[in-house]
Amino acid sequence: MKRPSNAPLRPVINLGQSRPVATPIHPSVVYASEDLNALDEIYFGQAEGYTYSREGHPNAQQLAQMIDEMEGAEGGIITGSGMSAVLLAVLSCAASGDHVLGGDQLYGRSLRMMSDELPRLGIAAEVVDTTDSAQVEAALKPNTKAILLEVVSNPTLRIADMEGIYALEKARGIKVIVDNTFTTPAAYQPLQVGADLVVHSVTKLLAGHSDAMLGYVAAGDPALNDEMRVRAITWGLTGSPFDCWLAERGALSFGLRYAATTQNAQRLATALSDHPSVAQVLYPSRQDHPQADRARRLLGDKGGNMVSFRLNADARDPANTFVRALDAVPCAPTLGDIGTTLSHPATSSHRALTSEARAALGMGEGFFRVSVGIEPIESLVDVFTNALDQIQD
Ligand code: PLP
Repeated sequence: MKRPSNAPLRPVINLGQSRPVATPIHPSVVYASEDLNALDEIYFGQAEGYTYSREGHPNAQQLAQMIDEMEGAEGGIITGSGMSAVLLAVLSCAASGDHVLGGDQLYGRSLRMMSDELPRLGIAAEVVDTTDSAQVEAALKPNTKAILLEVVSNPTLRIADMEGIYALEKARGIKVIVDNTFTTPAAYQPLQVGADLVVHSVTKLLAGHSDAMLGYVAAGDPALNDEMRVRAITWGLTGSPFDCWLAERGALSFGLRYAATTQNAQRLATALSDHPSVAQVLYPSRQDHPQADRARRLLGDKGGNMVSFRLNADARDPANTFVRALDAVPCAPTLGDIGTTLSHPATSSHRALTSEARAALGMGEGFFRVSVGIEPIESLVDVFTNALDQIQD
C-alpha cells in the first residue's frame, strides 16, 4: 500500500516540449483512435488512452490520483456525487439475500438508502450504534457482508468504536466501508488502519468551494476496485470533466484549508462554550467531548472543521432569532465550504425524523452545526457572539 500524503502535487501534463501550469479541461465526450489496434490496446490496458468519457477522462483520472495519494490508495474511482460513491461501495460488497449494517447516525441520505433502497434490492439493512462495538456484534448475522460507518457522526460528532469494529469484522470477513467525508484524509486514512473501502463526498472539504459535486471510492483490494470501476461505467455513475477540474483545483489547497479551518473551529468552539446562551458545545478534540479519549486516539489533535452546539433556549423562536442575527453566515444544508456555513439539523438533514426521535439524538430546535471556514477568526467570533447576544434565554 502507498504511503498517504496530504499535499499531493498538481499532476504533470506534458504537451510536446511544454507543460501547462493550469490543468487543461477535457470536455470531449468521445475520443477517436488512430486505428482498430489502438482501440484494442486501450481496452486491453496495454496503452494509455480514452474512448468515451463515462468510461474515463483525463480530469477524472488526475483527480482520482490526487485523492489516492491522500488516502494511500491505488486505483480509486471518481463518481458523480458522494451518494453514488456510497451506493457503489455498498452494492459492490452486498447483493440480494445479504445483510448490511450501517451506523445509526450516518448522513441522512445514506440512512435513507439503508431504509428504503437496499430492501427493494433484496438486501436486508439495519442501523446500529457504532460507538459501541458490542452493539455492532449483537447486530451481526451470518449473511452480514458489510458495515457502512463514519468515524465522526453527523451532526452530533460522536466517535465510532473503530478499533473494536475492525477487529470484529476482520475475524468474520465482513467489509468495513468508511465514509471519510467529515474526517478527511488529513485526520484519518481508513485504508491504512483496517478499513476495506473508503468513500468521500468530494463535494465537501476536498473540493471545498460548493461548486462541484463528486464522489470517490477506493478499496484496498485492487480486484474490488476493478469491479467497482466497471460497475460505475455500466451504471453511469462517473463524474463530469468540469466538476473534476474544479475539484482538482480545490483539492490543491485542501491541506492549507484543513489546517486553517481546524484552528478556527477550535477557537470558535471555545468562544461558543464561553457564551451564556450556549448549553453545550461538541467538538472532537475538546476535553469535554463525551468521547474525548477515543477522539484523541483516532484523530490526535485534528478535531476537524465541524462544531455543533445547543442553545439553552431549545425552541424555534430563539433559534430563528439567532439564524436571522447571524446574517453573514449562510444557513445552508452543506459542509466543507471555504466559508463558514450554519445548518439546523431539525429542519434540514433530520427533518424526516419525529421530534421525539430527534430529541433522543439530542437534536432539538436549539441544536446547530457549524461548518467552519477560513475567515479571520476574530470576525467569526464577533459575528457569532453578536448573534447569540440577541437571544433572550
Ligand atoms: N456522506 C456524507 C458524510 C455527507 O455529508 C454527504 C453529503 O452531505 C454525502 C455522503 C453525500 O454526498 P453528495 O452530496 O456529494 O452526494
